[in-house]
Amino acid sequence: MAGQINAFEMAQKQFDGVAKLLNLDPQISEVLRWPMREYSFRIPVRMDDGSLRVFQGYRVQHNDARGPNKGGIRFHPNETFDTVRALATWMTWKCAVADIPLGGGKGGIIVDPSSITTPEKERLCRGWVQNMWKNIGPRQDVPAPDVGTTPQMMGWMMDEYSRMVGQYTPGVFTGKPLGGGGSEGRTEATGYGVIYTVREAMKHLKMDPSQSVAALEGFGNVSQYAAIGFVEMLGGKIACVSCWDRNDKTSYTYSHKDGVSPRFLLTIVDQYGTIDQKKAKEAGYIIEDGEKWIEKECDVLIPAAIEGHVNGDTVKRMSGRVKIVAEGANGPCTPEADDYFKKNGIFNIPDFLCNAGGVTTSYFESVQNDMNFYWTKHEVLERLDTKMTQAFNAVLQMSEKEKVYMRDAAYMVAIDRVVKAMQLRGWI
Ligand code: GLU
Repeated sequence: MAGQINAFEMAQKQFDGVAKLLNLDPQISEVLRWPMREYSFRIPVRMDDGSLRVFQGYRVQHNDARGPNKGGIRFHPNETFDTVRALATWMTWKCAVADIPLGGGKGGIIVDPSSITTPEKERLCRGWVQNMWKNIGPRQDVPAPDVGTTPQMMGWMMDEYSRMVGQYTPGVFTGKPLGGGGSEGRTEATGYGVIYTVREAMKHLKMDPSQSVAALEGFGNVSQYAAIGFVEMLGGKIACVSCWDRNDKTSYTYSHKDGVSPRFLLTIVDQYGTIDQKKAKEAGYIIEDGEKWIEKECDVLIPAAIEGHVNGDTVKRMSGRVKIVAEGANGPCTPEADDYFKKNGIFNIPDFLCNAGGVTTSYFESVQNDMNFYWTKHEVLERLDTKMTQAFNAVLQMSEKEKVYMRDAAYMVAIDRVVKAMQLRGWI
């Protein structure tokens, strides 16, 4: 859930606003407001103690006019059909804005992955594939990691699919581990992609990156590499990161008088994004309430956790110094937050542009799987930078040409490309 608002209602509300601006034919809108196909299924898993537990699984395929559906699988205790619908819809726009030949999809399982053992997780992953294998595939729908899922899980899922179809099919999942069909640079891709767009936004706003400060929400895969990129590529400083503590199920904000060192925090964070508090304290970190990140003095705010945390209530706590909000997460800012940004002249880099680096590198991964020829990390990241920079500039140009807010401009670029593909295929 996105605060008080349902994430899918939020995705539809954003779409409806732009459809109006574009004068889009209402019948075409009706096609795009809803996912094309949806799957809901139960996954029985034998637990280590011999008991049987049944998990709820989902996959939603929003639109595949531009190519196979593409998007992650989330393992989250609060997953709902509607969050998966919203995330699948955003994937369609994300792939279109990034200009990669893929559609939008998303999957999920209602589970807290830290509450089950590794063998249980493997059986759960294989169970998801046993339900979905007929409806996914390199030319149909290609899932990937997201919140709560890891490269190792993609390795198991790819293996299960390959067994079901009787042949090694690495291109059915992306975000796989290196050496198991994965691509160099995929781990860093989403976070670095966020920073490529921040760099371009700073150029546009004539800001000096080396004098800038960022505050980040979250310390999972996206936030970790966005923080590293902000320091190492732009020369900026990190005011704070926040993180979920799986032990007491509470979120905390971590700051340091000399600025946060993301490379250090990376050495004391576990696979679920929980930082070791004792070690952080020993290294001089100040640990505060998990919502404090939004109040920190900074130029760039990077919400990189989950949807709806920057909303009508929290947005007012933002420091007056913020010039850029770069959405590392999917759907972190609600329409009320958008109103606040517009009123206060805050430059927004919308989620499906800002965090498109992950899926873009997933696309590179599937291309490499198809060729059975693998690129170096340098080649991957160079291609990623080119794609992200082109996508940012296409949206910025649209925003300047139509005099619209960046999120609306991103929707305009994306909707135009998807509608064109549907027309060319004779769907509409
Ligand atoms: N889960 C990521 C996203 O939301 C990556 C999706 C992918 O690589 O397919 O963009």
